[in-house]
Amino acid sequence: MLHPPIKRWRDWIPADCPGCGRRVACQGLCPDCLARLRPAAARPRCPRCAHPLDGGRCPDCGAAAPAYDRVVAAFDYTGLGRDLIHDYKIRCRLSLAGLLADQLARAVRSAGRRADPPDWIVPVPARREALLRRGFSPPAEVARLLARRLGTRCRLDGVRRVREGARQVGRDRVLRLQAQDGVFTCGVRDGLSGGRIAVIDDVLTTGATLQAVALALKEAGAARVEGWVLARTVDRRCEPPGGRVLQ
Ligand SMILES: [Zn+2]
Ligand SMILES: [Zn+2]
Repeated sequence: MLHPPIKRWRDWIPADCPGCGRRVACQGLCPDCLARLRPAAARPRCPRCAHPLDGGRCPDCGAAAPAYDRVVAAFDYTGLGRDLIHDYKIRCRLSLAGLLADQLARAVRSAGRRADPPDWIVPVPARREALLRRGFSPPAEVARLLARRLGTRCRLDGVRRVREGARQVGRDRVLRLQAQDGVFTCGVRDGLSGGRIAVIDDVLTTGATLQAVALALKEAGAARVEGWVLARTVDRRCEPPGGRVLQ
């Protein structure tokens, strides 16, 4: 082929690595930053919510199983992963959406087909105030690009907010769950009878938002709900100090 497909343009144009600023031969993270983002040594994880299980029980999955069936996280919310999320959400670097969607696509593929692929990818809807402040919805932008990467259908209106709900940062899990009660509803008018849904969010902290979204989707008939998130918090102390504006 004389002209390689245009979708591969990112593979030829040199750019600065968003992780370290070094010039690299293609768009995206340099090999060193990729290794920092996803350390080779795999930690044991909770099979349900992907929280590391360092010898103990999962702090986020209590006696009652969550409404969601599985979480896939592209990376941990620490170090470079935290910096990338900060740049994307706080500094509003929308150009990072493609790189982040690539990382999530890779995590989904390597998580394997323990279940059938989803019928729909749907983003967690942004709070109105955050949308107006930022000018874009971080989960929606990633969901749109991820759907293209995986060849899956995306419904940006698959979940709707019934009310705004309070900011979650700084609350413990019980308060978060209470605050999210009744915040979301399924946006698909015909229901989701037997459907498999992947819910996209940027950071999963206690899982309270994902729990509320999964409950709404299962009430609408979804058979399976997975959470596909960019970053998983691994330590409550890592919750963003600038998190007051993270949501
Ligand atoms: Zn780098
Ligand atoms: Zn868990």
